[in-house]
Amino acid sequence: MSDSEAVQEARGDMGATAPINLLGLPLARMQILFAELGEKPFRAQQMLKWIHHAGVTDFNEMTNFSVALRQRLSEIAEIRPPEIVAQQDSVDGTRKWAVRVEGGGLVETVLIPDGQRATLCVSSQVGCSLDCSFCSTGKQGFQRDLTAAEIVGQVWLAINSYDAFQSGKGRVVTNVVMMGMGEPLLNFDNVVDAMDLMMEDLAYGISKRRVTLSTSGVVPALDRLADVSDVSLAISLHAPNDELRNQLVPINRRYPISMLLDSARRYIDSRSDKKRVVTIEYTLIAGVNDSTELAAELAELLQGYPCKINLIPFNPFSQSDYTRPSGNAVSRFWQVLVDRGFIVTVRTTRGDDIDAACGQLVGDVVDRTRRSARYRDSHKPQPVKMLG
Ligand code: SAH
Ligand code: SF4
Repeated sequence: MSDSEAVQEARGDMGATAPINLLGLPLARMQILFAELGEKPFRAQQMLKWIHHAGVTDFNEMTNFSVALRQRLSEIAEIRPPEIVAQQDSVDGTRKWAVRVEGGGLVETVLIPDGQRATLCVSSQVGCSLDCSFCSTGKQGFQRDLTAAEIVGQVWLAINSYDAFQSGKGRVVTNVVMMGMGEPLLNFDNVVDAMDLMMEDLAYGISKRRVTLSTSGVVPALDRLADVSDVSLAISLHAPNDELRNQLVPINRRYPISMLLDSARRYIDSRSDKKRVVTIEYTLIAGVNDSTELAAELAELLQGYPCKINLIPFNPFSQSDYTRPSGNAVSRFWQVLVDRGFIVTVRTTRGDDIDAACGQLVGDVVDRTRRSARYRDSHKPQPVKMLG
C-alpha cells in the first residue's frame, strides 16, 4: 500500500521514509490520517486519548485498536516525546528540564507550581533570532524551529515526569505560557498546532484563558493569529518609547510600539468574549528602564489600553552586564503604575537556585558539557549528572 497524501503531508520535511510523529497531530489532521488508513474518525479521537490522556507511546498497548491497525501504524508512525537530558528540582517546587530535540539542539521547559496552579513555561524554538539585549536565549543565536510534537511534547513530558498519566492525580499542568526559548510567532504553524492540542479536550483540555502566547512583537504574524487561535496574549514591551525599545528589542525597528499595541488590541477586540486584556510584560533592568520617569511615561502610553502589567525583575546571566534592580526600585516603579489605576503584578523569582529563567538552563548545560569535555580530556569524572 503506497503512502497517502495525508501521510506524506504529516511527514512534512522529515523525508519520505521517516515515521510520522503522532504526538504533534491536532485532531483534524489525525482524522484525515485515519480516514486515509480506511478507519472511522472516532479512531482519531481514541488515538488522541491514548497519547495525551494515557501517555501511551507503544501502539501495542492500544487495546481498542485491531492488531492489523496497530501493525500498520507501527509501519508508518511513531509517538516520540523529546528526550530529557537533565532535570533539576528547586527547593520551592519549581522543576526544570533540559530537553534534547532531534539534531542535537537543547531547549528548556520549566514547571512552576503555585498553590492550586502549576504553570508550564514552554519553548518554541532552539535559540532565537531576535537578539533582545537582556535575553540569554537571544545570545545563543537561532538554530531551528521546534516541531509541533516537540512543543506539545514538553507538556507530555512534564506530566509524565510526575507519573501522573496513570495515577489520576490532580492536574500537573494547569496553565501554559509560551515564554521559554524562542519567539513563538516566528514558528507560527507548529506553535498553533501545539496550542490547539493543549486546549483540545481529547488532549490536555486547558482553557484558552490559561494558554498564553508571549511575543516580542512580530506584528504581521500577530494579525494572522487572530484568525486561527483564541489563546491569551502577552506582549514583551520593556520600554515606553521607541528610542529605548529599539535598543532592548531590536524587532521594534521594524514594528514600533504603536503598531504592536494596535495589533494586540485588534487581537483582543476580535475575541468572542469581550473581557480579555493584553498582558504587558516589562522586564526591569537596573539603570536602564526602571526609573519612575519611565514608569510615568509607560502609564501615559497605556492610559485607557485594555491591559494588565507584569513586571519581571531582570534575571542575570553570565554573558550580560545588566543587573537586577533593588526591591525598592521595583516597588517605586510598581507604585507609579498602581497610582494611575493599573493592575500590576511583579513576577516573583522562582527556582532561583536552579536558574529557572528564560534560556538559562540550556546555557548552563551547554557550558557544563563543554567543561565536561575538558574534564574527560584530563580523565576527571564528569561534573554534571546527565539523565537518559
Ligand atoms: N520570545 C517571546 C517569548 C519568550 S521570552 C518574547 O520575547 O515575548 C519570555 C519573557 O521573558 C519575555 O517577556 C522576555 O522579555 C523575558 N525575558 C527574557 N530574558 C529575560 C531575563 N534575563 N530576565 C527577565 N526576563 C527576561
Ligand atoms: Fe527571542 Fe523573546 Fe529572547 Fe527576545 S526575549 S531574544 S524574542 S526569546
